[in-house]
Amino acid sequence: MIVQNWWYTTLLGIRDPLQPPLTDHLRTDVLVVGAGMSGLTAAWRLALAGRKVVLLDRNICGGSSTGRSAGFLTPDSELELSQILRRYGPERARDLWDAPVRGIALIVDAVKQYGITCDLLLQDSLFVGSDARGWEDANAEVEARKTLGYPQTLYPRERLPDVIGTSEYYGGIRYPGTYGINPLLYAQGLKRALLDLGVRIHESTEARAWDDHTVRTHLGSVTADQIIFCIDKPDRSLTPLERNVFHAQTFLAISEPLGSADLARMFPSGARLQCWDSDLVYTYYRLTGDDRLLVGGGSALTTFALHAINTPGVMTRVLNGFHKRFPFLERLRFIQYWPGLIDTTRDLLPTIVRDPGAPWVQWVLGCVGLPWAAFCGDFVARQASGTAAADAERYYRYFEAARPFLVPTWLEPFIGKPLVFALNNAWAKYVQVDRGRKIPHRSDSL
Ligand SMILES: Cc1cc2nc3c(=O)[nH]c(=O)nc-3n(C[C@H](O)[C@H](O)[C@H](O)COP(=O)(O)OP(=O)(O)OC[C@H]3O[C@@H](n4cnc5c(N)ncnc54)[C@H](O)[C@@H]3O)c2cc1C
Repeated sequence: MIVQNWWYTTLLGIRDPLQPPLTDHLRTDVLVVGAGMSGLTAAWRLALAGRKVVLLDRNICGGSSTGRSAGFLTPDSELELSQILRRYGPERARDLWDAPVRGIALIVDAVKQYGITCDLLLQDSLFVGSDARGWEDANAEVEARKTLGYPQTLYPRERLPDVIGTSEYYGGIRYPGTYGINPLLYAQGLKRALLDLGVRIHESTEARAWDDHTVRTHLGSVTADQIIFCIDKPDRSLTPLERNVFHAQTFLAISEPLGSADLARMFPSGARLQCWDSDLVYTYYRLTGDDRLLVGGGSALTTFALHAINTPGVMTRVLNGFHKRFPFLERLRFIQYWPGLIDTTRDLLPTIVRDPGAPWVQWVLGCVGLPWAAFCGDFVARQASGTAAADAERYYRYFEAARPFLVPTWLEPFIGKPLVFALNNAWAKYVQVDRGRKIPHRSDSL
């Protein structure tokens, strides 16, 4: 097993050339910095709204978290529906579940509209209970979905082997409307569509500084009426909002293609489900269109590690656990693995703000999940176009930087950023109840 991102391997032979670095001084309506799922979606929606758009990325389009991800397109991000429901109550939980659902619709729409070849697969989600406690978690999801009237199928322990080839789980809940995708091919395909729409794109171009309406790069600059930063791992020199973001580390591995016998054992009903379990650091897996198994996971120690860890040890342990549940796949070889850092906020909802000193500048930070990132990109694009008034009222309140958290950032020098984020994440997932919170009614959030 070598350290290599399989999605990069699949870029071999695509027709989109690397867009050259910026060497000019440009003037535009809107500059989008960062071409992950959020920035690409923002640029796309702005181009459709008739804006002249420039898009910069320090890597390639999709080259960071987006193009490292497992490509599960499900509204279930790190916050489960039952957790959102506990925290916000039914009406607001619906708002918050609706956001990634809209994100998924945008991604699927782009694939269809531009004929993007990116292995988009309709794959129902299956959330499985690893043990008795996990089965309780799954049941909490069942109740939450019932409360909000979302469709689902419940598989008690004895029925679960009808759909997944193991009797090791305690039961599962399945729901529709979710997809698998090759996220890097998607990003590069959307890049091609954006070029066709007239968006000027420069890859390998880092925004190093900004002042007033101008962003400076190594060899050029862009002056824009509006600037949208959709970046990850933000540097303090660009924004003090950097304090609001940390990362969670996870790992992925890809196998050789499965044979037809193993496929039939793995998914006995023929439905190729995308699955994750109820463990705190959960294991997740799905099939790609060419019948490879993509397995992801991590460890409690490395999830909030300060620096990226590239050794195979964590992935090997995840795969050992996977093989215990599916011993008939023991001989299946996993050929590549890769680590990735997901940017998160302290409560796992994104932070979207207008810069307090420069309201023509918007920041999108800490989107957890591709659907959330797509939603946020569209949201800020509509803010920039002035067409999101109703949504602004509805959503900004969740995303403001100064929302309440359990552990404040000023404790960081004493207990460290990883612990501040781990405690806040746990609080947001398992304890926090915001129902009585006063809601600020304003369209800028700082
Ligand atoms: C291993 C792994 C597995 C995952 N699996 C899933 C999954 O199955 N499903 C799911 O929904 N989510 C998954 N995620 C999470 C998901 O990938 C992210 O939440 C999502 O991609 C965030 O998108 P984004 O656009 O906000 O950020 P990013 O994709 O990180 O995009 C930010 C972009 O900004 C650029 N940038 C940063 N700074 C600068 C600068 N100064 N100048 C110019 N450009 C800059 C970066 O190069 C990058 O391209 C996974 C993540 C990882 C790492």
